Formats: sequence, structure tokens, C-alpha cells
Amino acid sequence: MIHSSLTQLGAALRAKKISSVELTQGYLDRIAELNPKLNAFITVNPEKSLAQAREADTRFASGKVGALTGIPIAQKDIFCAKGWLTTCGSKMLHNFVSPYDAHVISQFNNAGAINLGKTNMDEFAMGSSNETSHYGPVKNPWDTARVPGGSSGGTAAAVAARLCAAATGTDTGGSIRQPAALCGISGLKPTYGVVSRYGMIAFASSLDQAGPMGRNAEDLALMMNVMAGFDERDSTSLQREKEDYTRDLNKSLTGLRIGLPREFFAEGMGADVAKAVEAAIAEYKKLGAVIVDISLPNSKLSVPVYYVLAPAEASSNLSRFDGVRYGYRAPEYSDLADMYEKSRAQGFGAEVKRRIMIGTYVLSHGYYDAYYLQAQKIRRLIAQDFTEAYKQCDVIMGPTSPSTAFKLGEKGDDPVQMYLSDIYTIAVNLAGLPGMSIPCGFGANDMPVGLQIIGNYFDEARMLNVAHQFQLATDWHSRAPKL
Ligand code: GLN
Repeated sequence: MIHSSLTQLGAALRAKKISSVELTQGYLDRIAELNPKLNAFITVNPEKSLAQAREADTRFASGKVGALTGIPIAQKDIFCAKGWLTTCGSKMLHNFVSPYDAHVISQFNNAGAINLGKTNMDEFAMGSSNETSHYGPVKNPWDTARVPGGSSGGTAAAVAARLCAAATGTDTGGSIRQPAALCGISGLKPTYGVVSRYGMIAFASSLDQAGPMGRNAEDLALMMNVMAGFDERDSTSLQREKEDYTRDLNKSLTGLRIGLPREFFAEGMGADVAKAVEAAIAEYKKLGAVIVDISLPNSKLSVPVYYVLAPAEASSNLSRFDGVRYGYRAPEYSDLADMYEKSRAQGFGAEVKRRIMIGTYVLSHGYYDAYYLQAQKIRRLIAQDFTEAYKQCDVIMGPTSPSTAFKLGEKGDDPVQMYLSDIYTIAVNLAGLPGMSIPCGFGANDMPVGLQIIGNYFDEARMLNVAHQFQLATDWHSRAPKL
């Protein structure tokens, strides 16, 4: 059962081969056994999960069930969930039990899914290795001396290790796709505005987007059907017709035009990653796709642009954590200003402080024009490159990450090296486009390699089709680590 997809689990539940309580207990047992080794979960609450499972089982009796009813889904600890500890990987929120549900959480609840627990993450989603979490690093299930990627590393490790069938992530600069690649699973960052950010703790609001992470593209489509949709509580949520993301899964890829950006295949990509990605492209040619040479000339500026804009937004978003209303408060202080200072000094980790300082700097008088405004202009150019490219192709492909999973501690002293992990993913967030990563082979040290698929705005159904057809022809997505 642990290797089953959401489709298979749903079928087993509806056929009454297993109950939701049995399934949930099975995963909870596996978490109890393996989480001490992987640290993928910050919180599990068997009582709460099993109560939901019992309720789901009564739904089966009454017949009102959907594709995900009764299936345990883990949630990244960035989503507020009523009655659940919601930490965002930070000491700042170590004691925050959310009084309300994020939109994504209520969508899963309404679908009858079970909240299996809250997954570990980089502090406030800032990181590419899951080493910045206040709750300690997550280990990659393929090699526990290596990182799972970040910031949705707990989710990626949990899915890869079969501690859950699927889970949620968020992606501001690559945090769904890069850990999916490093852990050998599938993940999708939707078009900006497709999934509501209500109740999702904000990092960089113009870039943040929630999405599904799971075993295969078909599972991601089922989760998208639950997660996507207009929500008036998020001012950037888009009002669109409800879509069925499974609708195109079985379309043929004959004539599909795949754009390969010259810049992605230049220096920087590891030889092992290049080999796996090229083999995947060859497979797509066999499936009937045609290759188009494209250029994204401004994409090389995406990392510096991101590291002006994301910290700027973060410095503003994180100003709410002041020790007053909720979260960490320093035990001793002399007056109000001292309480703010000490609470923030003690509650935030080093990477978060670095971002707040950079953000405050680029927004300050005299530097705003030189940095923030300039970065906004280049952001527009980066988006325009994609618009030009999509005149010639249907989807864009390339590597998700320049390398496979690196060793824990390897990049700890060098933030810039760490920032470069997202060199292929960040431009997609800056443009607001959908992007996904699917497993496409193994590289150095037998670690998984991810293929990135970038779509045009609102083209998620087509991207899922493109991924699904590859997964019908190959079996990389069904490999599992030995634990
Ligand atoms: N690694 C990037 C960062 O640290 C992206 C993180 C994310 O997508 N949440 O900002």
C-alpha cells in the first residue's frame, strides 16, 4: 500500500478494501518508525488525524466521496491549520497554534482528505537545503548524509520515503521543484494566483505560490483539482472557471514543441544532470515531440533580481513578528523597544536576519531607485523573454537544479553558492509562470535528477499531460529509496 498512488488509494478506499482509519494508522506507524531518521515532520497529531479518518469513513458509508476522500495528505508547516501547531520552521512561531485554516487546508478538509501532519521546512521558506529550520535539517531518504533540497524539503523527503502518498509545498523561487528534483518525486508550482495564499505564511508575496508534491503527474492533477480556485480572501487570487486538471492527461504528444533555452544548457549544469536531462529529451522525441532552440537572454539576471525583490518583500512581511500578539517573546526585556529587539534577535535564525537586513537596505531612501526599482524593471524583461519564447514553443524544458543533492553542511558557509541552487527555477517565479519537476534519472552518487517543465500561463493541464506521458513511458517516478 505504501507505494500506491492517490488514484490507487482512492480506488482501494471506495472498494472498501481498506478503511481511512487503517490507511492513516499505517502511515502514522511508518512516520513513527522512520521520522527519527529523516526529520521530515515537525508535528504529527495521531488523535486529530484519526478523528478526521473516522469522519471520512462515515462519508464512504453515505456515498458522498471525492477523489481524495479518506486519503492522508501531509501539509507543509507554512499552512495555518486550525488547532495545529504551525511553526513555519521558526523559533518565532514555536508556540503558535493556528486559530484558523489556510484556504488550501480548508479545501483539503472539504474534500475529505486527512491532515497527516506538518512537514519540516527551511525557516520562513528561506533556503534550498532545509538546513535553516529551527527544528533541525531534514535528511534525504536516498542518502541521509545529503540534503533533501528546500524549502519544502520535509514534504519532498516524506513523499520519497513513502511516509505519505502526497503533500503540499510552496515555491517562491524553486521550493517545490528543487526539493522534488533532489528527492526524486514530482512537484508543480502553479501559475501565480491559481492557488490562494490565504493562511499561507508570507515570505515574498508577489512570488509565493502553493502547489502539490507527489508520486506522479496524475496525483498532482488530482491535488490541483482540490487546491486551485478563486478565493476572495487573497487579493491576487484569480477569478477563473473551475478546471479539471486531469482532462488532458492522455493526450498524445505528437507535434508538441519543446523549447530548450540555450542559456540553461550552457556552463553551470553538472555533467551527470545534463546526461539525464538529455536522455529525457530524447525520450520526448520518441513520443513525437519536436525540439525548438530558444533563448531566455535575461534569465542569467534572475538570481540577483530575486535576491533584491524577495528580501525586500520579506522584510516587510516579517515585520509583523514582534513578540506582541503571538509567537516568541523574549523572556526578559527593559521596555517595549527592547522587547521587540530581543524577541526578533532571539526568535529569527541567521538566514532570516540576513534577508531582513538586505531587504531593509534595498528599500531604504537613496537605494530604492538603484536596487529595488532596477530589479523590478529587469523582472519585466525576464517575463518578456518567456512571452517571446512561447511564440515558438508549447513548453520549455531543462534541468531543475544544477546538481543532485549535496552533502549536509556543504554549502552552509556560503550563502551565494546556496542561492545558485535555484538558478533554473527562479525566473519562473519572477514571471509568474507555472513550472514543474519530474524525476528523469540518477546522477552522481546515485542521487535523483529532476527534469523541469515550464508552461505558459494557465497551462498546467498541458504540463501534467506532458509529464504523465513521460511517466507512462518510463519508470523513474516509481523508484523508491531503500530505508
Ligand atoms: N531557495 C530560495 C530562497 O531561499 C527559494 C525559496 C522558496 O522558494 N521558498 O529564497
